[in-house]
Amino acid sequence: MQRKWLWIEGRKAETEAYETLSAPYGGAPLAEVALASEADADRAIAAAVAAKPAMRALPAHARSAILERLAELLDGRREEAARLIALEAGKPLKAAYAEVDRTVQTYKFSAEEAKRIHGETIPLDAAPGGEGRLAFTQREPVGVVGAITPFNFPMNLVAHKLGPALAAGNTVILKPAPQTPLTALFVAELLAEAGLPDGALNVLTGDGKLLGEKLVADPRVDALSFTGSVGVGTRIRAQAGLKRVTLELGSNSAVIVDRDANVDAVAERCAAGAFSYQGQVCISLQRIYVMPEIRDAFVEKLKEAASRLRIGDPLDPETDVSAMISPRESERALDWIEEAVGRGAKLAAGGTLTDGVLAPTILLDVPHDARISCREAFAPVVLVNLAESIEEAIARVNDSAYGLQAGIYTNRLDTALQAAEALRAGGVLINDIPTFRVDHMPYGGIKESGIGREGVRYAIEELTETKLVIFNRN
Ligand code: NAD
Repeated sequence: MQRKWLWIEGRKAETEAYETLSAPYGGAPLAEVALASEADADRAIAAAVAAKPAMRALPAHARSAILERLAELLDGRREEAARLIALEAGKPLKAAYAEVDRTVQTYKFSAEEAKRIHGETIPLDAAPGGEGRLAFTQREPVGVVGAITPFNFPMNLVAHKLGPALAAGNTVILKPAPQTPLTALFVAELLAEAGLPDGALNVLTGDGKLLGEKLVADPRVDALSFTGSVGVGTRIRAQAGLKRVTLELGSNSAVIVDRDANVDAVAERCAAGAFSYQGQVCISLQRIYVMPEIRDAFVEKLKEAASRLRIGDPLDPETDVSAMISPRESERALDWIEEAVGRGAKLAAGGTLTDGVLAPTILLDVPHDARISCREAFAPVVLVNLAESIEEAIARVNDSAYGLQAGIYTNRLDTALQAAEALRAGGVLINDIPTFRVDHMPYGGIKESGIGREGVRYAIEELTETKLVIFNRN
């Protein structure tokens, strides 16, 4: 079996302990992956510190060219990259290809944005006493970025850290999710081939808590960029002191379907939003609120769309839904489904676990405080509940600890504007599911969904400091 080392100072680095990584679907062993020790983490941080001058010395066009080259290299190895995602994350190949294509986009946007990082002039003479001075700001890299990523988009969410951080001239220690280290190491090698200075990217695989907490605590790490669960994000915030922290966390995203919506098209789109990659998407569609007039027709169409999804091996190009990341997670989801049914919800589809795969599940009339409604399901489960009015539907959507993205389907302009104003989320989608994302848009949440924004340009803002320069001409 292949052995996967750490990546420190621009090359593979041995460590003492290794662990077998297995595929979520079928359980086949994939690789022996390095378990970094605290001493390894120390070396990686020291390497990132040492590489700061080399990154600072690179002009914007050179940083841009490295990222552009990375995008080309990745595109050239699209099939290998998609297969790797499918294997280690259990992501159906169709979705894995889509993730590779989005990753290429994210690096291309990063290459473009590297050339557009600038400040502004400040009219100091607007204040009495400020006359005779020229003032401007410039954006400087924060320094060393600790990037901690989840399992569900192992390539593109790594790109959302590396692309902006390197575009801005930072150095990085990346700690990928323990379930999905292979894609991160694959990209590290491509970045070296693309000409990144040694030590500007270091990858630590192994125990999430040990390594994550080391990055959070170490004073040489200037900023933390985290994507993952609310539980871990909350701990990071509490332990990070005055470090800069970006947190991209979970949600139980919802959509409202108004009485005039095109039921067939909307149901089709909702099935994609709820069941893609087994619902293990931070903006997966988890709750649908429909008006009484269209409820039955909508549920029928949603069931039809769900029944057409092919269940099976992620490496089969026809597969739509495969195993969740671990048996523990699918059993947890099943437990939440059973709780809802026990409290009066109706099971309209799914609810079965076969060969480790949880079937796409549709629940009706779920109590709003059942876990499958009010917590993040992160599973192929969606609920459809009635709302008697748009106001009630908006209140239901907002009755959540989370606020990442929310959607509404309506043909009425006043209703669309009412929802855009009243829905409490980082993004509101009119006539689309909340699961829509392209990689340059500002993206992030309010409430427990996080702090700060990603989407390349916005992530660069998070990973740079504003420096003010004043020339006194008096
Ligand atoms: P997770 O929180 O379990 O793990 C995320 C990362 O944190 C992993 O790399 C893990 O090893 C690391 N980690 C674990 N303990 C740590 C600690 N004590 N200190 C520092 N780091 C630690 O999340 P997951 O199960 O991998 O991913 C699923 C979650 O991620 C979901 O909640 C999902 O909504 C969220 N997510 C959010 C977005 C977004 O952009 N908002 C995108 C994708 C996923």
